[in-house]
Amino acid sequence: MDHLEEIRARMGIEELVGSYVQLKKAGRNLKGLCPFHNEKTPSFMVSPEKGIAYCFGCHQGGDIFKFVELIENVSFNEAVKILAQKTNVTLPQRMPELNNKRLRSIEINQWSVQFFQEQLEENHAKKEYFLKRGLAEETIKKFKLGFAPDSFDQLKNYLLQKGFEPRELIDAAVVSQRSIADKNSYDRFRDRLIFPIFDHQDNPVGFSGRIMGDGEPKYLNSPETPAYNKSLVLYGLNWGKESVKEKDRAIFVEGYMDVIAAHQAGNENTIATCGTALTPQQLKLIKRYTQNIAFAFDQDSAGREATFRGIELAQMADVNIQIIRIPEGKDPDECIQKNPGAWKNALENPISVMDFYFDYTFSRFDKQTMEGKRQIMDFLLPLIKLYKREVEQGVYLNRLALELKTDVRLLWNDLRNTKIKTYPGIKTERETKPDERIFSREEFLLGFIFTYPETYKTVAENLIDNVPFDTNTERFYNLLKKVYTLGSPINMERVLSELTEEERENVSIYSLLIDEKYPDFPKELAGKEVGKLIRQINRKNIDVIKRDYQVKLNASKDKQDAKLLLNRLMEISKLEQRI
Ligand SMILES: [Zn+2]
Repeated sequence: MDHLEEIRARMGIEELVGSYVQLKKAGRNLKGLCPFHNEKTPSFMVSPEKGIAYCFGCHQGGDIFKFVELIENVSFNEAVKILAQKTNVTLPQRMPELNNKRLRSIEINQWSVQFFQEQLEENHAKKEYFLKRGLAEETIKKFKLGFAPDSFDQLKNYLLQKGFEPRELIDAAVVSQRSIADKNSYDRFRDRLIFPIFDHQDNPVGFSGRIMGDGEPKYLNSPETPAYNKSLVLYGLNWGKESVKEKDRAIFVEGYMDVIAAHQAGNENTIATCGTALTPQQLKLIKRYTQNIAFAFDQDSAGREATFRGIELAQMADVNIQIIRIPEGKDPDECIQKNPGAWKNALENPISVMDFYFDYTFSRFDKQTMEGKRQIMDFLLPLIKLYKREVEQGVYLNRLALELKTDVRLLWNDLRNTKIKTYPGIKTERETKPDERIFSREEFLLGFIFTYPETYKTVAENLIDNVPFDTNTERFYNLLKKVYTLGSPINMERVLSELTEEERENVSIYSLLIDEKYPDFPKELAGKEVGKLIRQINRKNIDVIKRDYQVKLNASKDKQDAKLLLNRLMEISKLEQRI
């Protein structure tokens, strides 16, 4: 037995979690208060059967190893060591299989980085884009920027020639499969500028591909892979660690170009999350280097919301927060290009969290209307009340009075009757409300298949799955494909053994989701529920397929081509009538 399995056999998830959290029985699972976010009603579920623990509030969790990683803030290897000690399992000196997949993916990424860089050198017109946006040659080299040619197999063939297996290329996600019915794979990034993403140890873990003209998505990102854990990676940190330490401050921006432009301008302590919201793990990572962080997010409503959430998280992580108000342009990149002096000045004069709340409130509510004035006061007065001294309260009350064109004495009166409320950014005990992650219908469907394997047949026979490539549902179809290939009757043990570690974890979470959302659900109803889900997904997929063909039809110049597409469209319309 391999030692990971041995550890798993000796340490039940309920025993492990139970040593940190008080658990109560809930059907065949256990429930408790989540150790990863502040809450009063338990949403942390533990499934001894599936061997996982997961929070339906903040969506953190996983198997015993993941749980230790999260709660002790250690790497996977360290978590294995901790658990080996707890269970008296002796680990071999070297554990190559532990991160073999990860290492292979990193190796593939390294070659891909080189390939994309070579392509950029050969396509001067593409390189021109970076140069026009103000990047110096050496900056392009330092960030290993590249270009993915408009080809379905150039990178794939390049990597196959280097001796990698097709399966490994899919694991590393440089190559994708269109649909579960399709055995062919092809280059994920085509005709896009490439920003390689490195972890803080300088390993290339993923890519972001920016489209050149119009088109969607503007940035195509690698999904999570054995090498790429998005909640752990901060773009720019590999080049900026020293600078963060030296300046004792990390500046968070939104985009890749913002990071690169800031580094080029000399602010190498600038980093970004990679197309996701800031996570507690990223904050823990940055705390190794500094206790001071500043948010310099875009000056639009999305940027303000990101700042708002960032403050909340940062407050929980107990770091000092500053806000940088971007003076010119909508983002740091634009500001640095148009007016580097203003950018430098903004960095030197950050605003406080309270200043930000003033900005935030006035951008959200209309101070011209009575209703708006009331909302602004409801939001700000409890915050002002948190200040202990009247002098401090007075500063903000005067400012509020000025903005609302009202008498400050009235505000003092209101303040006396205001109850202290809790807000992020001001230190008080409070319950945090994490973002509600909405599970997709596809994820629910997978949950059903794995909880009630007999529903698999209905899915196999009725689901329209030849949808055009879509990153959001890609993971789902990849999983389903594995189930399909193994055929009916579905053998769960075998399917699970074919899945990657991460896929297995996701599947467990999806089936735990069914336990959570459908408690005491009678087995007989599962088929009905699955039928409903299939109809909904089919309707959505048909829309996607139709739109895809319509676009192709409009663009096609060849008569023969157009005829073929038209036939396909008609077939789809028939299909549509059937469901
Ligand atoms: Zn939680």
